[in-house]
Amino acid sequence: MTALPPFERHRPGTVEEATGLFDRLGSDAVAYVGGSELFLLFKFGFADYPHVVDLKGIDELRGIARSDGMLRIGAAETHRAIERHPEVRDGWPAFAAMERGVGNLRVRTQGSIGGNLCFADPHSDPATFLLAADGEVEARRGGGDVRRIPIGELISGPFENTLGQGELLTAVVVPALAPGAAIVHRKFVLHERPAITVTCHLRVEDEELADVRLAVGSAGVRAVRGEEAEDVLTGASVAELDEPLDRAGELAGEASDPVEDANGSVEYKRQLVKVLSGRAVRDAVAEARDLT
Ligand SMILES: Cc1cc2nc3c(=O)[nH]c(=O)nc-3n(C[C@H](O)[C@H](O)[C@H](O)COP(=O)(O)OP(=O)(O)OC[C@H]3O[C@@H](n4cnc5c(N)ncnc54)[C@H](O)[C@@H]3O)c2cc1C
Repeated sequence: MTALPPFERHRPGTVEEATGLFDRLGSDAVAYVGGSELFLLFKFGFADYPHVVDLKGIDELRGIARSDGMLRIGAAETHRAIERHPEVRDGWPAFAAMERGVGNLRVRTQGSIGGNLCFADPHSDPATFLLAADGEVEARRGGGDVRRIPIGELISGPFENTLGQGELLTAVVVPALAPGAAIVHRKFVLHERPAITVTCHLRVEDEELADVRLAVGSAGVRAVRGEEAEDVLTGASVAELDEPLDRAGELAGEASDPVEDANGSVEYKRQLVKVLSGRAVRDAVAEARDLT
């Protein structure tokens, strides 16, 4: 690893100014917030841009607030700011807990939620959580309108997002849980980044599982919903969960479409997804029953 290559830093104060810079500088410019991903690429020599655009001074990308019953988080807010924010801890405790589990203190203090999602590293806790939470993001370019994008449509592949040239992620929107619903995030870490992430959202109605959303990430190239697993779990009786959980775990393992890497083989990862899904579902059931 070498020192950072030389570059010119720009500090726009608005989305319009930032877009103006990208229009003028074209492919010579790249955005950053914490730089925990981008500057690592620079240091390894995998990327080299003569102009970097620091988004931290854009007010529209800042702030954490409840709005219309939803949690709106500015894209430039750090993991640390999110995990410590009273509104998040009180109203979205599972989201705060997930954020508290991201990386280490240095990564959480430097890295932003927007940077995490835009970089689209397959090993992302927020991407998996937001998929099960039915989260969305907001994006804007120049003087244009805010575009709302479901989280599943933001990340198109490993290290690929669907934002247009000069378009910025401005905010992340997390819906409130419906009455009686619980959401639980579980992860398994072998090296620095998660090897498997699983989030389960559900309700328990008349001792049966309802509104099940099971997201699995970090095993394959991007986080996905295990829809067939959700179908098996929906309507399952709390008293007889073993069999549906076994089957759902297998289906979630298949849906995660693992790739073999330093975290293990395809078979091993499927097994990890199965075990972790089982834990997430059981924990979510226990939480949801406590609420009724
Ligand atoms: C050691 C280590 C451990 C980690 N562990 C975990 C973990 O356990 N779980 C996990 O989920 N993540 C983990 N991460 C990833 C970490 O969460 C991200 O590195 C961080 O959130 C990225 O944010 P950033 O602001 O530093 O991104 P930057 O490096 O500033 O930007 C990343 C990319 O996103 C683009 N970008 C940034 N913001 C915007 C925006 N608003 N609009 C458009 N494009 C934008 C940039 O152009 C760049 O391409 C880890 C990282 C490290 C280095």
